Amino acid sequence: MTTDTIDLRSDTVTRPTPSMRRAMAEAAVGDDVYGEDPTLNRLQEEAAALLGKEAALFCPSGTMANLIAVLVHTRPGDEVVCESDCHVYNYEAGAMAAVAGVLPRPVKGRLGVMDPGDVVAAIRAKIYYLAQTSLLCVENTHNLAGGTVVDVIRCRELAGAARDHGLASHLDGARIFNAAAALGVEAAEIAAPFDSLMFCISKGLSAPAGSLLLGTGAFIEEARRIRKRIGGGMRQAGILAAAGLVALREIVPLLGEDHRRAKALAEVLADHPVFECRVDDVHTNIIVVTVRGGYEPGETIERLAGKGLLCGPAGGRLLRFVTHREITDGDLERAVEILRDFR
Ligand SMILES: *Cc1c(COP(=O)(O)O)cnc(C)c1O
Repeated sequence: MTTDTIDLRSDTVTRPTPSMRRAMAEAAVGDDVYGEDPTLNRLQEEAAALLGKEAALFCPSGTMANLIAVLVHTRPGDEVVCESDCHVYNYEAGAMAAVAGVLPRPVKGRLGVMDPGDVVAAIRAKIYYLAQTSLLCVENTHNLAGGTVVDVIRCRELAGAARDHGLASHLDGARIFNAAAALGVEAAEIAAPFDSLMFCISKGLSAPAGSLLLGTGAFIEEARRIRKRIGGGMRQAGILAAAGLVALREIVPLLGEDHRRAKALAEVLADHPVFECRVDDVHTNIIVVTVRGGYEPGETIERLAGKGLLCGPAGGRLLRFVTHREITDGDLERAVEILRDFR
């Protein structure tokens, strides 16, 4: 890979900023098993305040944070209602089944957004021989649907439907700050109706690793026990948390720029002989396109890579292009040129 390759495979390729590296080098740290890492404690407190939840827990990955939420909210044999293309069901190595012993109950959404009526219809009757539905998972933004946003009203409707039927609700908010930027609301407004949520600092926020799990004080107390049980307890994790604090302060405000660049890319990809997508369906920093008949997805990725533009497979005929902090306006211009002439 040459240095001027334009890497649109994922926002996870973002590297820590110079200011993050400085903060990491200088971070005051301690043993988190004793609750004594001041930087980690600070990140957890700031995250909880920012998202309007009582408490937060730093986890090594989003997958682990989602799994912990499932483990706290359910018992083995329960069912979890989730969108059929969602991350927690499709991209977490079957963790909810393999580790938590629960069954996913997928509900098809429109652009990744479930209808509250469909959610209610998927909830099992309280009969002893039926699997019991105990959790609803909502993904916002929705990754595979193309970074699409679930608006605040729909979040309230979905979490409300869950609550009315005795289910807990969990938000997979890996990219909740992208959703907030796109909707022009505080992330706390999106988070408010849900019992728990997870967000990643390792995606567009550019920190090297980590996710925050948030909820009530009692939820986080139990989550800390489960995190230990599944091997996610850490010691001087303040080194990582330091980057997270910089991410919240310095990178969150920049996400709108990634969205603007994604829109510009979508304009080229929408009216294209090789790709198909709708500009209106691009809400944030992710563009999922369909490769038109006559072109082969894997070969298309390789041919684009040969021209210096990397995108990723998204299953079947789908490809994913993701903008992020390391994609400049100059890169955008070159990407547009490469794509415009691509046949
Ligand atoms: C990346 C991602 C996760 C999981 O995060 P990891 O840190 O990669 O384990 C969960 N949900 C969504 C929507 C994601 O994009």
